[in-house]
Amino acid sequence: MATETHSTRADGRGGTGGDDPRAARAKVSDLDVVRHHFDRAWDSLGYPDDIRQIFWEPYREVTVQIPIKTSDGTTRVYHGYRIQHNGARGPYKGGVRFHPEVDIDEVRALASMMTWKTAIAGVPYGGAKGGVDVDPADLDDAELQRVARGFMDKISKVLGPTRDIPAPDVNTNSQVMAWLMDQYGKLHGHTPAIVTGKPISLEGSYGREAATGRGCVFMFQEAAPKVGLVPDETRFVVQGFGNVGSWLARIMQGLGATMIGVSDAFGAIRNDAGIDAQALVRHLHHEGGKLEDFPAAEPISAGDLYEIPCDVFFPAALGGMIHADNADLLDCKMVVEGANNPTTFDADDILIDKGVLIVPDLMANAGGVVASYFEWVQNLQHFRWDEKEINSKLGHILRRTFHEVDQRADHEQQTLRTAAFEISIERVVDASRTRGYFD
Ligand code: GLU
Repeated sequence: MATETHSTRADGRGGTGGDDPRAARAKVSDLDVVRHHFDRAWDSLGYPDDIRQIFWEPYREVTVQIPIKTSDGTTRVYHGYRIQHNGARGPYKGGVRFHPEVDIDEVRALASMMTWKTAIAGVPYGGAKGGVDVDPADLDDAELQRVARGFMDKISKVLGPTRDIPAPDVNTNSQVMAWLMDQYGKLHGHTPAIVTGKPISLEGSYGREAATGRGCVFMFQEAAPKVGLVPDETRFVVQGFGNVGSWLARIMQGLGATMIGVSDAFGAIRNDAGIDAQALVRHLHHEGGKLEDFPAAEPISAGDLYEIPCDVFFPAALGGMIHADNADLLDCKMVVEGANNPTTFDADDILIDKGVLIVPDLMANAGGVVASYFEWVQNLQHFRWDEKEINSKLGHILRRTFHEVDQRADHEQQTLRTAAFEISIERVVDASRTRGYFD
């Protein structure tokens, strides 16, 4: 089963690049990146400095220890985090990632991104994130299940269907959500709306699994005319072939676009004549193949992927993958950020100078949380919508989001990222003020 974003191996902050320095993760932290964008928008909005602190740091942070018995009888101790950044607009919402590089600062950054993401998409949530410093590749299913249940045991007190609702993220999927829901149910009674991204058989929503990738494609379609692209002539590269990358690749292909390069945690491939995304999913997820053994493409290094001339580059792996040391290599018209925080602020400036249009993460990958909102609404109503209805509602919300941000960006002569941050900060500040948190 595909995970929410990119699977990675435990190779330190080397991320998806192995030993290739071009494909190493940035040295600057995700938290510095988010705070930089936040500060820039806050300063330009001219809000008072004393209020900034409320949004600069999270509302609540929970750090827990998760000891599990492994199958060989030894004990291993993992560390879990649930960080609730801001709840002014509604219950805290955000995924849970399982990754050996998870640390509290990364989760802080991702939690605040969820506050801005739910605000820009206009869904009635605040922002949160969870993480456990576990590499699922090191564990069998029974051990992984123990980690998921152990994590839920420790954080369930701060969760609730109107308090904080987890979802999938890097290396977690609908199976992990099922374990989380089941464990919460043992403690508090059956509560499907406690997590989203559940399997269809357990009150998950049609369309949720593909929604983040589908959302990236909606964003591409809206942005395409701005740089003179038409979908069926578009050539694209995907970094990361987990849930987000594999779905966006298939949906782009459905529009007639051509994938000419793709990477995963273990390698990268290229074929200028096109790589069949559907066949690649079969090869990797159903036949247990490796990316570099995919027959109809040439293996390349993770660093070479950045240098493939293309129309659109989709980062759909980890944060910090596009930075000052590799941004100049990109040869594309548009970057659509399927991952969270894939671009550092200095890389952002380099790409802008090169004339690359960046569709930023908080809107580009908002399709996941929007579909999570649909799942939660269905769970609360004990009612199910069909996939067509979900995809059409998703498209409506994301198109509206794109145009709200684009109009502001045009009007204020800003990037989409700055405009998106400004609008979402305004919405969160307005909600906080109306609640009476400050004047
Ligand atoms: N993990 C996803 C994100 O980063 C989805 C969060 C959710 O559905 O709550 O947006």
